[in-house]
Amino acid sequence: QTHFIFHSLQAKMSRPVQARRLEGIDKNIWVEFVKLAATYSKVNLGQGFPDFPAPDFLREALTRALSGGNHMLHQYTRAFGHPPLVKVLAQFFEKLLGRDLDPMTNVMVTVGAYQALFCCFQALVDEGDEVIIIEPFFDCYEPMVKMAGGTPVFVPLRPNPPKDGKLMSSADWQLDPAELASKFSERTKAIVLNSPNNPLGKVFSRGELGLIAELCVKHDVLCISDEVYEWLVYDGKQHIRIASLQGMWERTVTIGSAGKTFSATGWKVGWVVGPDRLLQHLRTVHQNSVYHCATIAQEAVAQGFQRELMLYGKPESYFVQLPKELQQKRDWLVQSLDGVGMKPIIPEGTYFLVADISPFKSDVPDVPNSDEPYDSRFAKWMVKNKGLAAIPLSAFYSEAHKNNYTNFIRFCFAKEEATLKAASDILQKWKQEKTSS
Ligand code: PMP
Repeated sequence: QTHFIFHSLQAKMSRPVQARRLEGIDKNIWVEFVKLAATYSKVNLGQGFPDFPAPDFLREALTRALSGGNHMLHQYTRAFGHPPLVKVLAQFFEKLLGRDLDPMTNVMVTVGAYQALFCCFQALVDEGDEVIIIEPFFDCYEPMVKMAGGTPVFVPLRPNPPKDGKLMSSADWQLDPAELASKFSERTKAIVLNSPNNPLGKVFSRGELGLIAELCVKHDVLCISDEVYEWLVYDGKQHIRIASLQGMWERTVTIGSAGKTFSATGWKVGWVVGPDRLLQHLRTVHQNSVYHCATIAQEAVAQGFQRELMLYGKPESYFVQLPKELQQKRDWLVQSLDGVGMKPIIPEGTYFLVADISPFKSDVPDVPNSDEPYDSRFAKWMVKNKGLAAIPLSAFYSEAHKNNYTNFIRFCFAKEEATLKAASDILQKWKQEKTSS
């Protein structure tokens, strides 16, 4: 009897279980919208992943790694990156950054770019530090800064609509130099840069990067540069790596992702390139959290990079072919959205496109004084009623600024032609129903 009472008392926990650092960051846009898309969508242009296959050479590399003679590929590898992968990444980035790199100290492999970001914030941001984040931003930056005890400081890209009635471009969204400068102070530890930018597709120009670099040097601030879309740049634009600008190498960590680079988001292989002085601390976080990412996936990605190193700049290179194909998909979606009046903002890079929902708003009435931004309600309504999934732009803004941008949704166009066509059909039919009613 006593034994039973003891157990039932023990079973009830009344003490708070949640660590304080999780306060206010429990909600997650992806958990919510991925579930909605899985339940309702017929066509999913929401979350960013290709629905076309990863390239043959990469899949073949994985098959070889899996069934080849080297059974050690099923075991642990070096914590900070499988040696063949860090070696080839170092060779590749030597070319891109124009400097010698040591594969063992200047490169670290992570579980996707997500974990690279996590390592950066945990290793470099202290209680009370401020971290500047440019809006709109890939949503996890904010909770990751907060979990590290830091304070995010937001600075928006401001849209300047073109006067001649042309479609807006992501290049029309710009930082106000004075406003940006005003965010830097003694408390600033780092700035997060994401170029090409998710969700807008903005590719920061040399001038804009120069301005950021100048402020970083002036205030002795670190730069966490998320460049996962580095190869997805269109119309002959050039992706410039901020680490290659004067004074920036020693204060920059550059983050990449095989998921985006080789259209294999599920593999979760990412990396960080930077000076040992910074990476040594990232290694401490990494070795005490995940230790390393799947050996076999690292081996296959290493082979993918060896191929790309050989074909560098040639027409057969995947890094040349993929953006070409995606540019066609972008142009197709731009036309089709423009055709139904959902004005697109033409992205210079990434595989995302942001579009203005104004002409469709009459079908989804506003709820005054609701906590939920209008575009979020619109996107939910659209997936439930039209079967088309997209992500509200407000999800990429801080709480304080969410309600300034509630007229846009983001589509992912890394999709098969048939998927894009199906999305376009849904919008056209919707438009017709509206005009005939
Ligand atoms: N940074 C940005 C800007 C992204 O868009 C994403 C993926 N959506 C990531 C990082 C995470 O990349 P990974 O899938 O390699 O973890």
